[in-house]
Amino acid sequence: MELWFSEYQTKNTKLSFRVKEVLYTKQSKFQNISVIETEDFGRVLALDDTVMLTTKDEFVYHEMISHVPLLTHGNASRVLVIGGGDGGTIREILKHPVKEAHLVEIDREVIETSKEYFPSVSCGLSDPRVKIFCEDGIEFVKKNKGYDIVIIDSTDPIGPAVGLFSEEFYKDVFLALNENGIMVAQTETPILFGDLIKRIYNDMSSVFHYTNLYSAVIPTYPGAFWTFTMGSKTINPISHETSVEPFFKTKYYNKKLHRSYFILPPFVKDIISE
Ligand code: SAM
Repeated sequence: MELWFSEYQTKNTKLSFRVKEVLYTKQSKFQNISVIETEDFGRVLALDDTVMLTTKDEFVYHEMISHVPLLTHGNASRVLVIGGGDGGTIREILKHPVKEAHLVEIDREVIETSKEYFPSVSCGLSDPRVKIFCEDGIEFVKKNKGYDIVIIDSTDPIGPAVGLFSEEFYKDVFLALNENGIMVAQTETPILFGDLIKRIYNDMSSVFHYTNLYSAVIPTYPGAFWTFTMGSKTINPISHETSVEPFFKTKYYNKKLHRSYFILPPFVKDIISE
């Protein structure tokens, strides 16, 4: 018998993985959590049947959402991650000389599942520099300040994540950031969700002095061509020469390519400038 796991990337497009084994599935207070062993992409973490990560390509997303802002900043000491309960972003942040990394994940069960089934991803969560808060990131940033970097490692703008894609939230993040602070959010694919990207870009631009998109190729996310949007208070990531050479090994991020990540194909430029 053939067993397949499919994600509806849109109403009309599915991405399917041949399943070796379904390892875990549970309905938490917030979402359905599944862990599936697949033939080609290793272990998959899915929330409400949407792929969060695969062990085959998670390094692209986690390196790019972390190293680009941290190396642009160059001197980050306190970092906040909102969402990101799998721990992949924290794992990458800890490769930098940060003093504190805070994780605010609304669903404790995502953290527990990742610790159990994705040890290579969640490995940083027990580091003494990490503090975990199981609460809503939208409320958290209203009360907690003094971060050099805030990373929004969220699910798509559905359910509890809707407010993480709003101008009000970006204003609160701005206030939670230190003087040279930088925020980055995962902002979906321009192949399918140009309207969303344009709205996020406009909202962030009305709050931050510099707003820039950068991109990466993530095969298991819709459209494969993925964007991140960076809001920066004082550092212009386009003209800024990253001064810090990563002193750790990377698989996707490359310092020589750092500035080129911000060079957008014309169709993406059109989306944000129209
Ligand atoms: N890399 C992933 C992606 O783009 O598919 C995101 C992975 S991470 C598991 C996303 C996490 O965001 C989920 O575990 C979800 O529970 C969390 N989340 C959603 N809304 C949130 C909120 N308002 N506050 C804190 N965490 C939230």
